[in-house]
Amino acid sequence: MSPSTLSPTPTLSPIAFPDVALPESARRLRAEVRAFADEERARGTVLGRPDSWLAGWDPGFSRRCAERGWVGMALPTEYGGAGRGFLDRYVVIEELLAAGAPVSAHWVSDRQAGPSILQHGTEEQRRFFLPRIAAGQCFFSIGMSEKNSGSDLASVATRAERTADGWRLTGTKMWTGGAHVNDYAIVLARTDDAEDKHAGLSQFIVDLRAPGVRIEPIRLMSGEHRFNAVHLEGVDVPDGMLLGERGSGWKQVTGELAFERSGPERYLSTFPLLVSLLRELEQRSATAEQLVQVGILTARLHSVRQLSLGVAAALDAGHSPDTQAALVKDLGTRLEGALVDTVRSILPTPADSHATPGSHPELLAFALLHSPGYTLRGGTNEILRGIITRGLEQH
Ligand SMILES: Cc1cc2nc3c(=O)[nH]c(=O)nc-3n(C[C@H](O)[C@H](O)[C@H](O)COP(=O)(O)OP(=O)(O)OC[C@H]3O[C@@H](n4cnc5c(N)ncnc54)[C@H](O)[C@@H]3O)c2cc1C
Repeated sequence: MSPSTLSPTPTLSPIAFPDVALPESARRLRAEVRAFADEERARGTVLGRPDSWLAGWDPGFSRRCAERGWVGMALPTEYGGAGRGFLDRYVVIEELLAAGAPVSAHWVSDRQAGPSILQHGTEEQRRFFLPRIAAGQCFFSIGMSEKNSGSDLASVATRAERTADGWRLTGTKMWTGGAHVNDYAIVLARTDDAEDKHAGLSQFIVDLRAPGVRIEPIRLMSGEHRFNAVHLEGVDVPDGMLLGERGSGWKQVTGELAFERSGPERYLSTFPLLVSLLRELEQRSATAEQLVQVGILTARLHSVRQLSLGVAAALDAGHSPDTQAALVKDLGTRLEGALVDTVRSILPTPADSHATPGSHPELLAFALLHSPGYTLRGGTNEILRGIITRGLEQH
Protein backbone atom coordinates (compact mmCIF):
# COMPACT_ATOMS: atom_id res chain seq x y z
CA MET A 1 0.00 0.00 0.00
CA SER A 2 1.31 3.44 -0.76
CA PRO A 3 1.19 5.85 2.17
CA SER A 4 -0.97 8.24 0.12
CA THR A 5 -3.88 5.78 0.22
CA LEU A 6 -4.23 6.04 3.97
CA SER A 7 -4.72 9.08 6.19
CA PRO A 8 -1.84 9.08 8.70
CA THR A 9 -2.91 7.69 12.08
CA PRO A 10 0.06 7.77 14.46
CA THR A 11 -1.99 6.56 17.41
CA LEU A 12 -5.23 4.98 16.40
CA SER A 13 -8.25 5.77 18.55
CA PRO A 14 -10.41 2.70 19.29
CA ILE A 15 -13.13 4.05 17.04
CA ALA A 16 -11.04 5.37 14.15
CA PHE A 17 -11.51 3.72 10.77
CA PRO A 18 -8.89 4.93 8.32
CA ASP A 19 -10.51 6.11 5.09
CA VAL A 20 -9.12 3.92 2.32
CA ALA A 21 -9.01 4.32 -1.41
CA LEU A 22 -7.64 1.18 -3.02
CA PRO A 23 -4.63 1.91 -5.26
CA GLU A 24 -4.62 1.35 -9.01
CA SER A 25 -2.56 -1.83 -8.53
CA ALA A 26 -5.50 -3.29 -6.57
CA ARG A 27 -7.77 -2.81 -9.57
CA ARG A 28 -5.39 -4.81 -11.76
CA LEU A 29 -5.08 -7.47 -9.10
CA ARG A 30 -8.88 -7.72 -8.83
CA ALA A 31 -9.14 -8.32 -12.57
CA GLU A 32 -6.51 -11.09 -12.32
CA VAL A 33 -8.38 -12.80 -9.48
CA ARG A 34 -11.68 -12.59 -11.36
CA ALA A 35 -10.11 -14.17 -14.43
CA PHE A 36 -8.63 -16.93 -12.25
CA ALA A 37 -12.02 -17.54 -10.57
CA ASP A 38 -13.63 -17.78 -14.01
CA GLU A 39 -11.05 -20.37 -15.12
CA GLU A 40 -11.61 -22.34 -11.94
CA ARG A 41 -15.38 -22.11 -12.35
CA ALA A 42 -15.00 -23.57 -15.82
CA ARG A 43 -13.05 -26.52 -14.40
CA GLY A 44 -15.76 -27.07 -11.79
CA THR A 45 -13.92 -26.09 -8.62
CA VAL A 46 -15.61 -22.73 -7.91
CA LEU A 47 -19.20 -23.61 -7.16
CA GLY A 48 -20.50 -20.22 -5.98
CA ARG A 49 -21.43 -21.62 -2.58
CA PRO A 50 -22.13 -19.62 0.58
CA ASP A 51 -19.72 -19.96 3.51
CA SER A 52 -16.93 -21.18 1.22
CA TRP A 53 -14.20 -20.02 3.65
CA LEU A 54 -15.46 -22.55 6.15
CA ALA A 55 -16.95 -25.29 3.99
CA GLY A 56 -14.96 -25.27 0.73
CA TRP A 57 -11.93 -27.44 1.52
CA ASP A 58 -9.89 -28.03 -1.65
CA PRO A 59 -6.10 -28.24 -1.16
CA GLY A 60 -5.54 -28.33 -4.95
CA PHE A 61 -7.35 -25.00 -5.30
CA SER A 62 -5.32 -23.58 -2.40
CA ARG A 63 -2.07 -24.63 -4.07
CA ARG A 64 -3.09 -23.01 -7.34
CA CYS A 65 -3.84 -19.78 -5.43
CA ALA A 66 -0.42 -20.10 -3.79
CA GLU A 67 1.31 -20.52 -7.16
CA ARG A 68 -0.06 -17.10 -8.07
CA GLY A 69 1.29 -15.63 -4.84
CA TRP A 70 -2.16 -15.29 -3.24
CA VAL A 71 -1.53 -17.27 -0.07
CA GLY A 72 0.66 -15.61 2.56
CA MET A 73 0.48 -12.43 0.49
CA ALA A 74 1.18 -10.20 3.47
CA LEU A 75 4.19 -12.28 4.65
CA PRO A 76 7.66 -10.92 3.88
CA THR A 77 9.42 -12.30 0.78
CA GLU A 78 12.35 -13.60 2.86
CA TYR A 79 9.92 -16.14 4.33
CA GLY A 80 8.37 -17.10 1.01
CA GLY A 81 5.51 -14.60 1.18
CA ALA A 82 4.62 -12.00 -1.42
CA GLY A 83 5.28 -8.98 0.84
CA ARG A 84 2.24 -7.24 -0.61
CA GLY A 85 0.44 -6.05 2.51
CA PHE A 86 -3.07 -6.39 3.85
CA LEU A 87 -4.89 -4.33 1.24
CA ASP A 88 -3.75 -6.45 -1.70
CA ARG A 89 -4.62 -9.53 0.35
CA TYR A 90 -8.00 -7.96 1.01
CA VAL A 91 -8.75 -7.63 -2.68
CA VAL A 92 -7.83 -11.27 -3.32
CA ILE A 93 -9.90 -12.74 -0.52
CA GLU A 94 -12.83 -10.44 -1.25
CA GLU A 95 -12.95 -11.65 -4.86
CA LEU A 96 -12.57 -15.31 -3.90
CA LEU A 97 -15.32 -15.09 -1.27
CA ALA A 98 -17.66 -13.20 -3.60
CA ALA A 99 -17.14 -15.99 -6.14
CA GLY A 100 -17.84 -18.63 -3.46
CA ALA A 101 -14.42 -20.23 -4.07
CA PRO A 102 -13.22 -23.18 -1.93
CA VAL A 103 -10.61 -21.38 0.17
CA SER A 104 -11.05 -23.10 3.52
CA ALA A 105 -7.93 -25.32 3.33
CA HIS A 106 -5.56 -22.34 3.51
CA TRP A 107 -7.90 -19.91 5.29
CA VAL A 108 -6.65 -20.10 8.86
CA SER A 109 -2.96 -20.44 7.89
CA ASP A 110 -3.20 -17.39 5.65
CA ARG A 111 -5.34 -15.23 7.93
CA GLN A 112 -4.01 -16.09 11.34
CA ALA A 113 -1.34 -18.73 11.78
CA GLY A 114 1.08 -17.08 9.32
CA PRO A 115 0.87 -13.55 10.79
CA SER A 116 1.01 -14.99 14.30
CA ILE A 117 4.13 -17.09 13.63
CA LEU A 118 5.70 -14.08 11.92
CA GLN A 119 5.01 -11.91 14.96
CA HIS A 120 5.67 -14.32 17.83
CA GLY A 121 7.55 -17.28 16.36
CA THR A 122 11.23 -18.12 16.68
CA GLU A 123 13.41 -17.69 13.62
CA GLU A 124 13.40 -21.47 13.24
CA GLN A 125 9.59 -21.59 13.31
CA ARG A 126 9.37 -18.78 10.77
CA ARG A 127 11.80 -20.48 8.40
CA PHE A 128 10.03 -23.82 8.72
CA PHE A 129 6.34 -22.82 8.62
CA LEU A 130 6.01 -19.58 6.66
CA PRO A 131 7.33 -20.78 3.28
CA ARG A 132 5.13 -23.89 3.55
CA ILE A 133 2.09 -21.76 4.38
CA ALA A 134 2.77 -19.46 1.44
CA ALA A 135 3.16 -22.47 -0.85
CA GLY A 136 -0.27 -23.77 0.19
CA GLN A 137 1.34 -26.89 1.63
CA CYS A 138 0.72 -26.46 5.32
CA PHE A 139 -2.75 -26.00 6.77
CA PHE A 140 -3.66 -24.88 10.31
CA SER A 141 -6.62 -25.13 12.69
CA ILE A 142 -7.48 -22.88 15.63
CA GLY A 143 -7.38 -24.65 19.00
CA MET A 144 -8.80 -22.06 21.37
CA SER A 145 -12.31 -23.12 22.41
CA GLU A 146 -13.20 -25.66 25.05
CA LYS A 147 -16.46 -27.08 26.29
CA ASN A 148 -16.72 -25.00 29.46
CA SER A 149 -14.71 -21.99 28.39
CA GLY A 150 -15.98 -20.81 24.99
CA SER A 151 -16.52 -17.10 25.49
CA ASP A 152 -14.58 -17.20 28.74
CA LEU A 153 -11.41 -18.18 26.91
CA ALA A 154 -9.14 -17.34 29.83
CA SER A 155 -10.63 -20.26 31.76
CA VAL A 156 -9.17 -22.90 29.39
CA ALA A 157 -8.43 -26.12 31.22
CA THR A 158 -6.11 -27.82 28.72
CA ARG A 159 -2.81 -28.23 30.53
CA ALA A 160 0.75 -28.32 29.29
CA GLU A 161 3.12 -30.02 31.78
CA ARG A 162 6.89 -29.62 31.50
CA THR A 163 8.83 -32.73 30.37
CA ALA A 164 12.57 -33.29 29.91
CA ASP A 165 12.66 -31.78 26.42
CA GLY A 166 9.30 -30.15 25.95
CA TRP A 167 5.68 -30.26 27.04
CA ARG A 168 2.91 -32.84 27.47
CA LEU A 169 -0.56 -31.54 26.57
CA THR A 170 -3.77 -32.92 28.05
CA GLY A 171 -7.29 -31.61 27.48
CA THR A 172 -10.06 -31.29 24.90
CA LYS A 173 -10.53 -28.51 22.36
CA MET A 174 -14.01 -27.99 20.88
CA TRP A 175 -15.30 -26.79 17.51
CA THR A 176 -11.85 -27.20 15.96
CA GLY A 177 -12.59 -26.49 12.32
CA GLY A 178 -10.70 -28.69 9.86
CA ALA A 179 -8.67 -30.62 12.47
CA HIS A 180 -9.45 -33.87 10.59
CA VAL A 181 -7.89 -32.57 7.36
CA ASN A 182 -5.35 -29.93 8.45
CA ASP A 183 -1.72 -30.39 9.51
CA TYR A 184 -1.31 -28.35 12.70
CA ALA A 185 -3.34 -26.51 15.32
CA ILE A 186 -2.25 -23.56 17.43
CA VAL A 187 -3.41 -24.67 20.86
CA LEU A 188 -3.94 -22.42 23.86
CA ALA A 189 -3.03 -24.25 27.07
CA ARG A 190 -2.32 -23.53 30.72
CA THR A 191 1.37 -23.80 31.52
CA ASP A 192 1.35 -22.25 34.98
CA ASP A 193 -1.15 -21.81 37.80
CA ALA A 194 -1.72 -18.16 38.52
CA GLU A 195 -4.21 -16.14 40.53
CA ASP A 196 -4.98 -14.01 37.50
CA LYS A 197 -6.65 -16.37 35.04
CA HIS A 198 -5.23 -14.38 32.09
CA ALA A 199 -1.72 -15.28 33.24
CA GLY A 200 -0.08 -18.69 32.89
CA LEU A 201 -1.42 -19.39 29.39
CA SER A 202 0.79 -20.29 26.43
CA GLN A 203 0.37 -21.22 22.78
CA PHE A 204 1.76 -24.36 21.14
CA ILE A 205 2.00 -25.53 17.56
CA VAL A 206 0.60 -29.05 17.70
CA ASP A 207 1.02 -31.61 14.93
CA LEU A 208 -2.50 -32.95 14.41
CA ARG A 209 -1.11 -36.39 13.45
CA ALA A 210 1.04 -36.74 16.58
CA PRO A 211 0.50 -39.72 18.90
CA GLY A 212 -2.12 -38.91 21.55
CA VAL A 213 -4.21 -36.62 19.31
CA ARG A 214 -7.70 -38.12 18.96
CA ILE A 215 -10.08 -36.33 16.63
CA GLU A 216 -13.80 -36.82 17.12
CA PRO A 217 -16.20 -35.41 14.50
CA ILE A 218 -18.95 -32.93 15.43
CA ARG A 219 -21.49 -32.90 12.62
CA LEU A 220 -23.36 -29.79 11.49
CA MET A 221 -27.18 -29.76 11.13
CA SER A 222 -26.62 -30.34 7.41
CA GLY A 223 -24.70 -33.54 8.22
CA GLU A 224 -21.39 -32.03 7.06
CA HIS A 225 -18.21 -32.87 8.92
CA ARG A 226 -16.34 -29.57 9.35
CA PHE A 227 -15.76 -29.51 13.12
CA ASN A 228 -14.24 -31.70 15.74
CA ALA A 229 -13.58 -32.23 19.37
CA VAL A 230 -9.80 -32.62 19.54
CA HIS A 231 -8.77 -34.78 22.49
CA LEU A 232 -5.16 -34.22 23.52
CA GLU A 233 -4.36 -37.36 25.47
CA GLY A 234 -0.81 -36.73 26.70
CA VAL A 235 0.55 -35.26 23.46
CA ASP A 236 4.30 -34.62 23.52
CA VAL A 237 5.20 -31.27 21.99
CA PRO A 238 8.89 -30.39 21.63
CA ASP A 239 10.24 -27.20 23.19
CA GLY A 240 10.67 -25.66 19.76
CA MET A 241 6.90 -25.71 19.23
CA LEU A 242 6.08 -23.29 22.04
CA LEU A 243 4.81 -20.25 20.13
CA GLY A 244 5.91 -16.96 21.65
CA GLU A 245 6.71 -16.57 25.30
CA ARG A 246 5.61 -18.92 28.03
CA GLY A 247 2.79 -17.17 29.90
CA SER A 248 2.01 -14.70 27.09
CA GLY A 249 -0.77 -16.81 25.53
CA TRP A 250 -3.57 -14.45 26.49
CA LYS A 251 -1.89 -11.40 25.00
CA GLN A 252 -1.04 -13.34 21.86
CA VAL A 253 -4.55 -14.75 21.22
CA THR A 254 -6.26 -11.43 21.86
CA GLY A 255 -3.82 -9.77 19.45
CA GLU A 256 -4.65 -12.42 16.81
CA LEU A 257 -8.35 -11.74 17.07
CA ALA A 258 -8.12 -8.54 15.03
CA PHE A 259 -6.94 -10.74 12.13
CA GLU A 260 -9.72 -13.21 12.82
CA ARG A 261 -12.62 -10.81 13.15
CA SER A 262 -12.42 -8.03 10.67
CA GLY A 263 -12.06 -9.53 7.20
CA PRO A 264 -14.56 -9.75 4.36
CA GLU A 265 -15.48 -13.30 5.48
CA ARG A 266 -17.51 -11.59 8.21
CA TYR A 267 -19.97 -10.11 5.75
CA LEU A 268 -19.53 -12.10 2.54
CA SER A 269 -20.43 -15.63 3.75
CA THR A 270 -23.91 -15.32 2.26
CA PHE A 271 -23.00 -13.02 -0.65
CA PRO A 272 -23.31 -15.85 -3.25
CA LEU A 273 -26.97 -16.13 -2.19
CA LEU A 274 -27.49 -12.46 -3.09
CA VAL A 275 -25.95 -13.15 -6.50
CA SER A 276 -28.30 -16.10 -6.89
CA LEU A 277 -31.26 -13.90 -5.91
CA LEU A 278 -30.28 -11.34 -8.56
CA ARG A 279 -30.15 -14.11 -11.17
CA GLU A 280 -33.61 -15.26 -10.12
CA LEU A 281 -34.97 -11.71 -10.25
CA GLU A 282 -33.51 -11.22 -13.71
CA GLN A 283 -35.66 -14.07 -14.94
CA ARG A 284 -38.91 -12.42 -13.84
CA SER A 285 -39.80 -8.79 -13.58
CA ALA A 286 -38.72 -7.69 -10.13
CA THR A 287 -41.23 -5.69 -8.09
CA ALA A 288 -40.38 -2.28 -6.66
CA GLU A 289 -40.34 -3.78 -3.15
CA GLN A 290 -37.86 -6.48 -4.19
CA LEU A 291 -35.59 -3.83 -5.73
CA VAL A 292 -35.80 -1.66 -2.60
CA GLN A 293 -34.78 -4.61 -0.41
CA VAL A 294 -31.86 -5.46 -2.70
CA GLY A 295 -30.83 -1.79 -2.58
CA ILE A 296 -30.89 -1.77 1.23
CA LEU A 297 -28.74 -4.91 1.40
CA THR A 298 -26.29 -3.46 -1.10
CA ALA A 299 -25.99 -0.21 0.84
CA ARG A 300 -25.38 -2.09 4.09
CA LEU A 301 -22.77 -4.31 2.40
CA HIS A 302 -21.03 -1.24 1.03
CA SER A 303 -20.87 0.42 4.45
CA VAL A 304 -19.55 -2.65 6.26
CA ARG A 305 -17.01 -3.19 3.49
CA GLN A 306 -15.68 0.33 3.93
CA LEU A 307 -15.25 -0.26 7.67
CA SER A 308 -13.61 -3.62 7.06
CA LEU A 309 -11.19 -2.04 4.58
CA GLY A 310 -10.36 0.52 7.26
CA VAL A 311 -9.33 -2.30 9.60
CA ALA A 312 -7.17 -3.87 6.86
CA ALA A 313 -5.48 -0.50 6.37
CA ALA A 314 -4.92 -0.12 10.12
CA LEU A 315 -3.34 -3.60 10.25
CA ASP A 316 -1.17 -2.63 7.29
CA ALA A 317 -0.02 0.43 9.20
CA GLY A 318 0.98 -1.74 12.16
CA HIS A 319 -1.92 -0.86 14.47
CA SER A 320 -3.93 -3.34 16.51
CA PRO A 321 -7.53 -2.33 15.78
CA ASP A 322 -9.28 -4.77 18.15
CA THR A 323 -12.32 -2.57 18.89
CA GLN A 324 -12.86 -1.79 15.22
CA ALA A 325 -12.55 -5.48 14.30
CA ALA A 326 -15.17 -6.39 16.91
CA LEU A 327 -17.51 -3.73 15.51
CA VAL A 328 -17.07 -4.96 11.94
CA LYS A 329 -17.72 -8.53 12.99
CA ASP A 330 -20.87 -7.65 14.92
CA LEU A 331 -22.28 -5.54 12.05
CA GLY A 332 -21.11 -7.94 9.35
CA THR A 333 -22.35 -11.21 10.80
CA ARG A 334 -25.77 -9.70 11.57
CA LEU A 335 -25.90 -8.55 7.96
CA GLU A 336 -25.14 -12.11 6.79
CA GLY A 337 -28.18 -13.39 8.67
CA ALA A 338 -30.34 -10.47 7.49
CA LEU A 339 -29.36 -11.23 3.90
CA VAL A 340 -30.71 -14.79 4.22
CA ASP A 341 -33.94 -13.53 5.85
CA THR A 342 -34.45 -10.86 3.18
CA VAL A 343 -33.84 -13.31 0.33
CA ARG A 344 -36.41 -15.68 1.82
CA SER A 345 -38.98 -12.99 2.39
CA ILE A 346 -38.78 -11.29 -1.00
CA LEU A 347 -38.49 -14.48 -3.06
CA PRO A 348 -40.48 -17.19 -1.32
CA THR A 349 -38.69 -20.26 -2.70
CA PRO A 350 -38.68 -23.36 -0.47
CA ALA A 351 -35.15 -24.18 0.68
CA ASP A 352 -34.18 -27.66 -0.50
CA SER A 353 -30.81 -29.21 0.27
CA HIS A 354 -31.50 -32.03 -2.21
CA ALA A 355 -32.17 -29.67 -5.13
CA THR A 356 -29.63 -29.38 -7.98
CA PRO A 357 -26.27 -28.21 -6.54
CA GLY A 358 -25.86 -24.49 -7.17
CA SER A 359 -29.60 -23.91 -7.73
CA HIS A 360 -31.29 -21.18 -5.69
CA PRO A 361 -33.26 -23.58 -3.41
CA GLU A 362 -30.08 -25.55 -2.69
CA LEU A 363 -27.95 -22.46 -1.95
CA LEU A 364 -30.72 -21.12 0.28
CA ALA A 365 -30.86 -24.39 2.25
CA PHE A 366 -27.06 -24.35 2.61
CA ALA A 367 -27.00 -20.74 3.86
CA LEU A 368 -29.91 -21.39 6.26
CA LEU A 369 -28.35 -24.49 7.78
CA HIS A 370 -25.08 -22.63 8.30
CA SER A 371 -26.64 -19.42 9.61
CA PRO A 372 -26.72 -20.22 13.36
CA GLY A 373 -22.91 -20.12 13.31
CA TYR A 374 -22.50 -16.67 11.71
CA THR A 375 -22.82 -14.68 14.94
CA LEU A 376 -21.06 -17.30 17.12
CA ARG A 377 -17.82 -18.31 15.41
CA GLY A 378 -14.83 -16.14 16.21
CA GLY A 379 -16.56 -14.75 19.31
CA THR A 380 -20.27 -14.21 19.95
CA ASN A 381 -21.92 -10.87 19.34
CA GLU A 382 -22.63 -10.37 23.04
CA ILE A 383 -18.91 -10.70 23.78
CA LEU A 384 -18.02 -8.40 20.90
CA ARG A 385 -20.33 -5.73 22.25
CA GLY A 386 -18.50 -5.95 25.58
CA ILE A 387 -15.22 -5.32 23.74
CA ILE A 388 -16.72 -2.40 21.81
CA THR A 389 -18.12 -0.86 24.99
CA ARG A 390 -14.75 -1.08 26.72
CA GLY A 391 -13.10 0.45 23.64
CA LEU A 392 -15.56 3.35 23.67
CA GLU A 393 -15.06 3.89 27.40
CA GLN A 394 -11.32 4.24 26.87
CA HIS A 395 -11.92 6.90 24.26
C1 LIG B 1 -19.24 -22.46 13.07
C2 LIG B 1 -18.28 -22.35 14.22
C3 LIG B 1 -16.91 -22.45 14.00
C4 LIG B 1 -16.01 -22.39 15.05
N1 LIG B 1 -14.69 -22.62 14.81
C5 LIG B 1 -13.83 -22.67 15.84
C6 LIG B 1 -12.47 -23.05 15.63
O1 LIG B 1 -12.08 -23.40 14.52
N2 LIG B 1 -11.63 -23.07 16.69
C7 LIG B 1 -12.04 -22.71 17.94
O2 LIG B 1 -11.21 -22.69 18.84
N3 LIG B 1 -13.32 -22.36 18.16
C8 LIG B 1 -14.22 -22.37 17.16
N4 LIG B 1 -15.54 -22.05 17.39
C9 LIG B 1 -15.96 -21.79 18.74
C10 LIG B 1 -16.48 -20.38 18.96
O3 LIG B 1 -15.46 -19.44 18.96
C11 LIG B 1 -17.27 -20.46 20.27
O4 LIG B 1 -18.43 -21.22 19.96
C12 LIG B 1 -17.68 -19.12 20.78
O5 LIG B 1 -16.55 -18.42 21.21
C13 LIG B 1 -18.73 -19.22 21.89
O6 LIG B 1 -18.40 -20.17 22.88
P1 LIG B 1 -19.46 -21.26 23.34
O7 LIG B 1 -20.03 -21.89 22.11
O8 LIG B 1 -18.81 -22.15 24.37
O9 LIG B 1 -20.64 -20.44 24.02
P2 LIG B 1 -20.70 -19.79 25.53
O10 LIG B 1 -19.39 -19.15 25.77
O11 LIG B 1 -21.10 -20.92 26.43
O12 LIG B 1 -21.81 -18.78 25.36
C14 LIG B 1 -23.21 -19.12 25.28
C15 LIG B 1 -24.01 -17.83 25.14
O13 LIG B 1 -23.81 -17.01 26.30
C16 LIG B 1 -23.36 -15.72 25.90
N5 LIG B 1 -22.37 -15.22 26.87
C17 LIG B 1 -21.32 -15.90 27.40
N6 LIG B 1 -20.62 -15.11 28.22
C18 LIG B 1 -21.24 -13.89 28.22
C19 LIG B 1 -21.00 -12.65 28.85
N7 LIG B 1 -19.96 -12.49 29.69
N8 LIG B 1 -21.84 -11.62 28.60
C20 LIG B 1 -22.90 -11.77 27.74
N9 LIG B 1 -23.19 -12.94 27.13
C21 LIG B 1 -22.37 -13.97 27.35
C22 LIG B 1 -22.68 -15.92 24.56
O14 LIG B 1 -22.65 -14.74 23.81
C23 LIG B 1 -23.58 -16.98 23.94
O15 LIG B 1 -24.70 -16.40 23.34
C24 LIG B 1 -16.48 -22.14 16.35
C25 LIG B 1 -17.85 -22.00 16.60
C26 LIG B 1 -18.74 -22.10 15.54
C27 LIG B 1 -20.22 -21.98 15.85
